[in-house]
Amino acid sequence: MSAKSSRPQPPRSSAAVEDYLERILELINTKGYARVVDIAQSLKISQASVTNMIQRMDADGLLKYERYRGMALTASGEALAKNITRRHRILTDFLRLFGLDEELIYHDVEGMEHHVSPPTLNAIETLTVQLRRQPALLARVRQ
Ligand code: ZN
Repeated sequence: MSAKSSRPQPPRSSAAVEDYLERILELINTKGYARVVDIAQSLKISQASVTNMIQRMDADGLLKYERYRGMALTASGEALAKNITRRHRILTDFLRLFGLDEELIYHDVEGMEHHVSPPTLNAIETLTVQLRRQPALLARVRQ
């Protein structure tokens, strides 16, 4: 018997789900609500695909979706959204130390945020604090 065939499905906190949660929380924080049309625009995906994903996330208990009233994150959806937002912020703060192009930073962070482990994230956060305290070292690193 192959181990592969009996392997359980991975949890739905995939990179795509994390991107949705990140965008939804951002929309709720800035506009007060998140609509399918706004998410579609922000992620550059069709509204039909967004609706599909939102319905799956509703079924997974990450949010509550009502076609004409929009959506609200559940407690677990919000916890995941805050976690991905935190990863995004820590990685962005770190890369900004090096004076890199903002667009490049955003692009890289959008990839890295899905893969970074908690211990690595903590190390990066600590390193960011330390580098900020040592401008001379930071200046050398930036060259
Ligand atoms: Zn992000």
